[in-house]
Amino acid sequence: METVPVPEEFVVTTTTPPLSSRLSGVRSSPVRELLALVSNPDVISFAGGLPAPELFDADGLREAYVRALSGTAARRNLQYAATEGDPRLRELVADRLTRRGLPTAPDDLLITTGSQQALTLLTTALLDPGAVVAVEEPSYLAALQSFSLAGAQVAGVAGDADGIDPDAVEEVFRTRRPAVLYLVPNFANPTGRTLSAARRARVAELAAEFGVWVVEDDPYGELRYSGQPVAPLAAHPAAAANTVHLGSFSKIGAPGLRLGWARLPRELRPAVVVAKQAADLQTSTVDQAAAAEYLAVTDLDAHVARVVVAYRERRDAMLAALERELPAGARSSRPDGGMFTWVELPSVADTARLLPAALAAGVAFVPGASFFAGQANSCTLRLSFTTHSPDRTAEGVARLGRVLRQ
Ligand code: PMP
Repeated sequence: METVPVPEEFVVTTTTPPLSSRLSGVRSSPVRELLALVSNPDVISFAGGLPAPELFDADGLREAYVRALSGTAARRNLQYAATEGDPRLRELVADRLTRRGLPTAPDDLLITTGSQQALTLLTTALLDPGAVVAVEEPSYLAALQSFSLAGAQVAGVAGDADGIDPDAVEEVFRTRRPAVLYLVPNFANPTGRTLSAARRARVAELAAEFGVWVVEDDPYGELRYSGQPVAPLAAHPAAAANTVHLGSFSKIGAPGLRLGWARLPRELRPAVVVAKQAADLQTSTVDQAAAAEYLAVTDLDAHVARVVVAYRERRDAMLAALERELPAGARSSRPDGGMFTWVELPSVADTARLLPAALAAGVAFVPGASFFAGQANSCTLRLSFTTHSPDRTAEGVARLGRVLRQ
């Protein structure tokens, strides 16, 4: 321990005081670390799950902020406001969810600072230290972080191209008695998989039977490029009392807004509202007001349709390039939407060890191991296909192919 030479009663230690034990075992996100590394414009990065910035409706959002900060509304929109969120915004989001097949009233909704915050609030409201959270393996990294920060144990559940396997869910419900099942049923991060309608029904019934909370995290559901929409799990009759449905403007609007929402069963609302008060009192009044202004005059469906056209082309470019470039024995997922494809290389490869060579060749990906809660499959990697034009995507995959062949 280091001390400064002052009288004993004023001795100041420069040793860092201890951190909370909740942090032990929480891994930092390699995605965020990689984002810092790949600022080099010569590297074609498929690492970050970044929406294409050229598709953001900057003009429409600027005008919405001007309206939110003009006239008498400006004073109101710069003031503290209700924890649950802006009433107009809740109404507009409720309408949108209802039109997507999930009947929702404004009072069912809590506006959150990104859907990531909803995950944190739910861990506070639902998880005691040591509680078990069941997740599809592999799973969204920052959700895994949030569960481990809450002191929960994460139980990985196997899945396949149709999403989490209901038989494996039943087995984990029986043997581990989880408090929560966390799912990304549409175009999952990192695999791009979609949970089939039949499996959604079975999972909803199992969760009701075993008394497990289901968190249905759906930031990508509106970004569908092929196949038919599948009704949200929360819309299943068996799911009404125990399923939370999360959504976000990040992928259909812009992530910098940091606006998301949680559709909560009635019994859960007071607990999550208290958690929200303790976290930040409320989500930014002015950001919510601007979003409400924006949604009131913008045809968001038309905007999403334009984004879908561009992303479909990028997905197709990536899948075609992977078909050309991946070595024999490698496989990639074929997502019907969202932002990611998941690649599994022949069993000799460790993708974390391939990354330095890939960066040197001018391409970046996220090694798959960090998306696993249990036994990691280190032959996997995640590629995001939304950020680059089809040509640049093809060039990036060609660089990756050269590294893999070496
Ligand atoms: N859930 C999933 C599955 C995600 O992929 C993301 C963002 N990458 C989030 C939640 C968080 O999104 P946001 O906080 O921007 O709404």
